[in-house]
Amino acid sequence: MSLTKRILLAMALGVAVGIVLNLTISTDAEGRPDAGLGQWLQLFLVDGLFDGIGQIFVKSLQLLVVPLVFVSLVCGSAALGNHTRMGSIALKTILLYMMTTGLAITLALTAGTLIKPGEGIELQADTSFEVSDAPSLKETLVGIFPSNPVAAMAEGNMLQVIVFSLLLGIAISRSGEAARAILDFFQNLNDVVMKMVLLLMQLAPYGVFCLLARLFADLGLGAVLDLAWYFFTVLFVLLLHGLGVYSLLFKFFTRLSPLMFLSKMRAVMVFGFSTASSNATLPVTLRTVENDLGVDNKVASFSVPLGATINMDGTAIMQGVATAFIAQAYGIDIGWTGYLLVVLTATLASVGTAGVPGVGMITLAMVLQQVGLPVEGVALIIGVDRLLDMVRTSVNITGDAMVSSVVANSEGLLDRERFEQR
Ligand code: ASP
Repeated sequence: MSLTKRILLAMALGVAVGIVLNLTISTDAEGRPDAGLGQWLQLFLVDGLFDGIGQIFVKSLQLLVVPLVFVSLVCGSAALGNHTRMGSIALKTILLYMMTTGLAITLALTAGTLIKPGEGIELQADTSFEVSDAPSLKETLVGIFPSNPVAAMAEGNMLQVIVFSLLLGIAISRSGEAARAILDFFQNLNDVVMKMVLLLMQLAPYGVFCLLARLFADLGLGAVLDLAWYFFTVLFVLLLHGLGVYSLLFKFFTRLSPLMFLSKMRAVMVFGFSTASSNATLPVTLRTVENDLGVDNKVASFSVPLGATINMDGTAIMQGVATAFIAQAYGIDIGWTGYLLVVLTATLASVGTAGVPGVGMITLAMVLQQVGLPVEGVALIIGVDRLLDMVRTSVNITGDAMVSSVVANSEGLLDRERFEQR
């Protein structure tokens, strides 16, 4: 069986086992598992084995993120350094990221106002949610520039790592012969790190199974029923954007088959779904975008890591529907200017926040604050957020890969033959 098939099978099995466990382990009023078999299953299987293996799997993915982005982007920018194309690649990438996010949130707001998921909701907020202050635009922009490359790497600050790698790559290319040995070193290292990604991917079926079995065992689906309208509106827009809008844009810009694109992205989507983190999935996204979609390293090494940090269409969709939902639940009309402000702030809010689980909820609080909606509204929807986080992360990643392919194609840096290969 191919690796992709095994990963998909592991996903289905993980979800099924998780749901069965969730039904088997009955809990008392405080959410503790009943004594006996339930307690044993929860303790040893769910919180022990599955959680342990799942955590090891996610950690090993995260382990590769910084080395991979650093090495790969140094190679990419060193190869591009002397070309004026660098500016045009960067500009196109950023514009497309912004544009797709703007489109995503507009779709979400439209669906949110038409379907009206928040009407007639009885407010039952979980008050444990704490709101953090929004960083200002200036802070966000200044924060992109590193003062210490080692600190940036140690903290896993992706934008700062990107800036440093770009600078180093450009300097290497401008140093000519003197830097030949360093460039060779980075290129060899890049091959080695890519091999590490491949090794890790062999373990993916087990990791994915454990992560999903654990998540679904713990996931109470009761909350989904209470918030069914909200939940399904977000899900609907996520699917519409992730499958429909991306396919159209991909076809329009590249004239290649969107079905082939989506099918090659399947395994990456499962990674995103099970880890709920664009960052942790980065090694796999980068590998698939270069090896399977045929995007040249010069484009992929820049656009994919950048996208994992600044491009979050799925997150923007959740925020759009959530804003409409909260406005309706509280009976507040924010008007069209309010909605426009939402589009703007949600698009900007996604810049500078890393792609890790649950970050979308924090930026949602900022968006609500901007348009003057009660921030406590976040507490209304937090109960169903984990599942939506998983789906929206898959959308976020698919968006990164789509934009990367489109930009590469426009620069003549997409290997169309490789793309067509099964
Ligand atoms: N988990 C998402 C990601 O990593 C971000 C979010 O929406 O919370 O892309």
